[in-house]
Amino acid sequence: MSEETHDKVAVIGGGVSGLASAHYLARQGWQVDLYEASDRLGGRMAISHLNGQEICLGGKNIGYQYKEFRQFLEYYGPAKYEYFGLNSARLSNGKILPFNSENRTKQRLTLLRSATPADLWKLRSALKAVKAERKNGDVLGPYFKTLGKNRSKTITDYFSPKFSKSLARALTVRMNGAEPDEIALENFGTHLHMLQDEYEQLKSPISEILTAFKADQNIRTKLQTPVKALRRTNGFYAVTGLGFMSLYPKVILALPSYAAADLLSSDFSVFSETLRQARYFPVTVIVAKYKRPVFNAELRALTFPANSALSNIGAYGTKALNVVRYTFSGSASEALNSHVLTDDELLSIAEEQAAPYFNLTGNICQALKRKSWRRGLCAYTLNEANFREMLKAAQSNNPGLYVTGDFIKGASIENCFRAAKETVAFCLKTASIPPKDQTFQLVSRRGT
Ligand SMILES: Cc1cc2nc3c(=O)[nH]c(=O)nc-3n(C[C@H](O)[C@H](O)[C@H](O)COP(=O)(O)OP(=O)(O)OC[C@H]3O[C@@H](n4cnc5c(N)ncnc54)[C@H](O)[C@@H]3O)c2cc1C
Repeated sequence: MSEETHDKVAVIGGGVSGLASAHYLARQGWQVDLYEASDRLGGRMAISHLNGQEICLGGKNIGYQYKEFRQFLEYYGPAKYEYFGLNSARLSNGKILPFNSENRTKQRLTLLRSATPADLWKLRSALKAVKAERKNGDVLGPYFKTLGKNRSKTITDYFSPKFSKSLARALTVRMNGAEPDEIALENFGTHLHMLQDEYEQLKSPISEILTAFKADQNIRTKLQTPVKALRRTNGFYAVTGLGFMSLYPKVILALPSYAAADLLSSDFSVFSETLRQARYFPVTVIVAKYKRPVFNAELRALTFPANSALSNIGAYGTKALNVVRYTFSGSASEALNSHVLTDDELLSIAEEQAAPYFNLTGNICQALKRKSWRRGLCAYTLNEANFREMLKAAQSNNPGLYVTGDFIKGASIENCFRAAKETVAFCLKTASIPPKDQTFQLVSRRGT
């Protein structure tokens, strides 16, 4: 079946970036067709259920600075939050070094033990830059761009091994599934911005928000509709899948860069090759519910050293101290992430690792959910300036075709929203049809 949709925009991908793109377009009065391959929205938030309770196996923590995402939740909401904090102790020579946003003194002491005076000076300047200018918290922020160009390439080239292995690693493994020597210094602002925020998580189910989103009059959500190919025909883009072909003047690919590259490979080879420069690393998450509390209020999370396949363990919430989230990421997890292990095998590896520090002995796991991504966490490129140039050229050679995702501004939910907002603004700037509503203001559905 073929359909011409002159007045519509196609958004491909129903993860956070696709939700954001469709929402911003819809608020401008545009009609949107949103294509999602799987049976649900949310992508790498990975919405699931554990013992009847809704959980997110992927992205879940919402910073106080997540302005765009919070507005989206409010628009389709109401949304209820609960405090989560930033609690991430580290192991150093078998000793626990606490890092808890509720206890600044302990945070400072931990920092002093993990860095040289030169590191502290560099870190102070970098944190100041991130605080002073929002752009410095993005991929290729101006402050870090200058550092990266004039001095060195990766985080390890700039900071001491002591700092790189400790605090920097805790950030890169968590955010990118990458070691600090796999992250370009020019992108370090994304990590520091994350460190400066404090976090909540949703108390009310996100599925309720997504149900309201699906009822949006301006958005036609097409679940279980994988797009197989994208072609250019007579000034339109042909979006093709099993049993359908629709033509659009504008298409936004709201996908991880490798998935966008796959779609573009046949007709847009340069664009496709450019997108392949961004790297994604594997990650596996297990959320397990135990009979008794595993954590205590002081210690709710722990990051393991580089030789451990289990990169971190954390409580699912400040109150759910019997629900554990195990994450396998970083280079030591790669062999394990590529093996086909059963849930129980993986859980026993995690428990063995964590047992010396937490109340796991004789504590029975009553239920678990697991999710593995071969390419789950975005680690950007090692030459962002060059990548940006090539991306800009590829986009201007293909008017009407846009990409957005976590490789644009940074690997967080909020950064997906911020990137999508910019992409939509750019898409509409070149629009041939005037939108119905010119205001582009995000007011709640209920008018509040
Ligand atoms: C384990 C983990 C924990 C995280 N924790 C946090 C956190 O606490 N806080 C935070 O801010 N961020 C976190 N993140 C990051 C955040 O979740 C991601 O950056 C964000 O969800 C990426 O969204 P996206 O829409 O760009 O990509 P995706 O979520 O990957 O969405 C892409 C969507 O496109 C669909 N798709 C793919 N190909 C096609 C096709 N051909 N046709 C149609 N549909 C297609 C996919 O099914 C998917 O739904 C975490 C990520 C992971 C993996």
